[in-house]
Amino acid sequence: MYDIIGSGIAGLTCSQILSKSNISHSIFEKETSSPEDHYGIQITPNASNILAKIGLLDTILPDMHVINNIEIISLRNLKTLTRLPVNEFVLNNNLSKYFTISRKILYEHLLNAVNKNGTVIENNKNISNIIDHGDHFDINYGKNDTKESRGIIIASGSSKKPLLKNILIKQTSSNYLTLRAVAKKKEFPFQIKNDSIYVFLSEDLHIVAYPFFEDKINIVVIAKKNNLNFNNISINHFKSVENTFHDFLNATNWTIWNLNDYKTKLFLDKNKPIFVIGDAAHTIKPHLAQGASMAIEDAYSLAVSISNNSDPKIIHDLMEKRNARIKKVIRRSSTNRLIFHAKQPVSYFRDIYLRNTKPISHLNSLKWLYNYEI
Ligand SMILES: Cc1cc2nc3c(=O)[nH]c(=O)nc-3n(C[C@H](O)[C@H](O)[C@H](O)COP(=O)(O)OP(=O)(O)OC[C@H]3O[C@@H](n4cnc5c(N)ncnc54)[C@H](O)[C@@H]3O)c2cc1C
Repeated sequence: MYDIIGSGIAGLTCSQILSKSNISHSIFEKETSSPEDHYGIQITPNASNILAKIGLLDTILPDMHVINNIEIISLRNLKTLTRLPVNEFVLNNNLSKYFTISRKILYEHLLNAVNKNGTVIENNKNISNIIDHGDHFDINYGKNDTKESRGIIIASGSSKKPLLKNILIKQTSSNYLTLRAVAKKKEFPFQIKNDSIYVFLSEDLHIVAYPFFEDKINIVVIAKKNNLNFNNISINHFKSVENTFHDFLNATNWTIWNLNDYKTKLFLDKNKPIFVIGDAAHTIKPHLAQGASMAIEDAYSLAVSISNNSDPKIIHDLMEKRNARIKKVIRRSSTNRLIFHAKQPVSYFRDIYLRNTKPISHLNSLKWLYNYEI
């Protein structure tokens, strides 16, 4: 019997697979309802492959946008630097497709599947900590409530405060801000096709825009903090941004938050059935769009390992094998951040390189990521 903490993407995916293997479990969730807002996430082939394997892709498919191209565009003049042929890459490598979807809708699909399995989700249970008593764990919540547990899966997302003393979280501020907005296609100062993700590059900021829900596009701006006037969210300081975009950025009502860098270290007792997955186990910078996809991969690896083994040490060893991959994803996201926010003259050469390199070669350099057999 396992207790999963958190009914996010990792927790629900894990639950779905445990149910298929008849492993009894329950879920604790601090919220009472599903996420309010529609905002977009990208589900890359490595994750859509898992959704297919666990029998959910066909159900979710009607709510997803299939992505055939990623266009990289200069924010100076709105000219295309390169167009990455995702569809060609997927077909060449016999991969599952690349999608975008509303996070809320993905969550609802996962929740439906979990509900159909009859799994109990205990909402409104904000876990404050977990205490290891040697032969069992205490899960503490509310004022003085406790549940005794024999096995725990922590899937509580990113947080400054760890639930267990064997988890260390170091927070470093990153000098970057994230701005998010949803706009109708016609409001955006660039024509957005239904099958494409657009990455706009400049020096101080980059913008990612894609269709994800009804006729709307998800827009994420990542910008260096020192360029932003917080009082009226004016983006006047940005040089090298084409005028229509400048006006759009200034006129849009953004949700803004600091992009904190968390470093999470796990010191789990390998003899105990306690595991950590998703953002609770690692924070990945958004520059490779892998947060949700890694949460799905983690959930799959853990649930399959639990289904095939009863010895916690074997399961911990199997999960540790994922570390090298996670580290590579974190490194590549950090490299992308440097490339996306490069200053002159590096940004000048970046743009020349993008214009003059075979587009498929950029995707081929990510084969290790997207073509992942678990
Ligand atoms: C704007 C934005 C855009 C993103 N875009 C992408 C993208 O394009 N591609 C991508 O792969 N990823 C993206 N991500 C990241 C992605 O959403 C996360 O990496 C992913 O949701 C992690 O899943 P998770 O299950 O680990 O955590 P979450 O989805 O955060 O779920 C954690 C769950 O645990 C619950 N919880 C937390 N603490 C407790 C507690 N103490 N007790 C009980 N329950 C608790 C929470 O309420 C929540 O339901 C984006 C994130 C943001 C914010």
